Amino acid sequence: MMGHPLTLQNFLMRSRDFFGKKEIVSRELDGTLFRYTYREFYERVCRLAHALEELGVGKGDRVGTFGWNTHRHLELYFTPCMGAVYHTINIRLFPEQIAYIINHANDRVLFIDADLVPLIEQIRDKINVQNFVIMGKEKSYDTKFDSIAYEELISGKPRDYEWPLLDEWDTAGTAYTSGTTGLPKGVEYTHRGLVLHSIVAALPDEMGLSEKDNVLHIVPMFHANAWSIPFAATMVGAKQVFPGSQPTPQVLVDLMNSEKITFTAGVPTIWLMVYQYLKQNPDKKPEHLKEVISGGSAPPVALIKAFREEFGIEIIHAYGLTETTPLVTLNRPKSYLELDDEAYYQLKTSQGLIAPLLEMRIVKEDGREVEWNGKDMGELILKGPWIAKEYFKDIEKTKEKFTEDGWFRTEDIAVIDEEGYIKIVDRVKDVIKSGGEWISSVDLENALMAHPAVAEATVIGIEHPKWQERPLAVVVRTQDVTKEELIEFLKPKFAKWWLPDDIVFIDEIPKTSVGKFDKKVLRERFKDYYMK
Ligand code: ADP
Repeated sequence: MMGHPLTLQNFLMRSRDFFGKKEIVSRELDGTLFRYTYREFYERVCRLAHALEELGVGKGDRVGTFGWNTHRHLELYFTPCMGAVYHTINIRLFPEQIAYIINHANDRVLFIDADLVPLIEQIRDKINVQNFVIMGKEKSYDTKFDSIAYEELISGKPRDYEWPLLDEWDTAGTAYTSGTTGLPKGVEYTHRGLVLHSIVAALPDEMGLSEKDNVLHIVPMFHANAWSIPFAATMVGAKQVFPGSQPTPQVLVDLMNSEKITFTAGVPTIWLMVYQYLKQNPDKKPEHLKEVISGGSAPPVALIKAFREEFGIEIIHAYGLTETTPLVTLNRPKSYLELDDEAYYQLKTSQGLIAPLLEMRIVKEDGREVEWNGKDMGELILKGPWIAKEYFKDIEKTKEKFTEDGWFRTEDIAVIDEEGYIKIVDRVKDVIKSGGEWISSVDLENALMAHPAVAEATVIGIEHPKWQERPLAVVVRTQDVTKEELIEFLKPKFAKWWLPDDIVFIDEIPKTSVGKFDKKVLRERFKDYYMK
């Protein structure tokens, strides 16, 4: 066979040639809907390529994006077709992290959504960017630094472009993981990785994307490539809908109805907000939506149940990381499994089966693989065509997270059952190591939070003179309950040695910048608890 390169250029030309009449819809800052076709999209990508070339952007140069989900952001996702590298920047990071990322990636041009300009103004003096482009409908914007409006930038440029021959191993895009543990780390996506990821993600037993779908992009395009769904959607020629700035549940649900959305994806928090909104507005139930993809953290079983039983919408659970483009596993129960309701929902909470073309291992501390029994815990490690092989310009972090024999360490602790369904039970730094065995802090937390008197619960491993570590539960109460009552409540669900040795009650659990429980702070506060 021919050594034909797998590049995003094919998706761009294909969507122009075969789906030129299909629609792309985008909500502007003023709330109006902008509509155009794949044909016009193609022409604007060409104009953008000419404009970037005139700014001096060449092969391998980085083009930063600081924006919401819009059609302009989609156009920027296809700048790799001219050899440039798009770099999506997470607008929710701290200003110092944003400045660090922009400089570390060496962004030449920065595209900013009009309402986000104040965030960049704060760091303007700290970043080495040559040109700033403001995205929005207008042809000019007032900014405190030199800038040009996107519409002005591309206006009058030719509607076609002579695309260069690319190598499939060329870098197409880059993104940084959030810096919860130290500085953000850069991941580079190759054309080849993005193409193969798109093909597999679109398969019926994976995300299941087709030309017939109307796709609503909810996952932010500034986080993990919007799970690379914009590439897969362009590949199949689906109608794409972009909710723009401040995507509230009302905006999302209105678009689901007006644009007849059949496909969408988001984190569990979004589904929780959509659930609450639909409960209050039952007449707005989206008629065309039969399933939604949920990833980024584990959805509570009550939510999966509520969506299915109250709205007839199936939550499809998926798992991945910025380093993995991100699809790693997706959960669709196999056709031959005979499951009653309880078993069904139990299975749905697991992260699912590994995607085709990826290789995985779940290894214990001594490097041995776990049994497929749903019980043995180990760290999930991965290989595959869309798994990062290193961090961009960061030898130290690369050494930590990539093994010498070529595996990427997820630092997620998993179990795997006889059927191959993977369940994430903890993170390496949170799992409790008690007498040579591991205890899942996540399982204990979920069980505690199911108690009606518990508002929030977190379980941490605390140094112990005999057992190395023992679990300590830290709980916020909504009403009176004693530790003895809570331990009694846990007893039927866990082996005796899993039960927390003690429970402390506090008023509020400290949270990180992205709202996750800050276990680091609690571990520090209670570090001598079992040594006294
Ligand atoms: P960050 O920038 O915070 O690393 P990522 O999106 O890359 O952001 O986070 C990846 C991590 O999120 C995974 O390592 C895992 O711990 C968690 N995660 C992702 N999807 C799921 C899921 N479906 N269930 C449980 N945890 C998940």
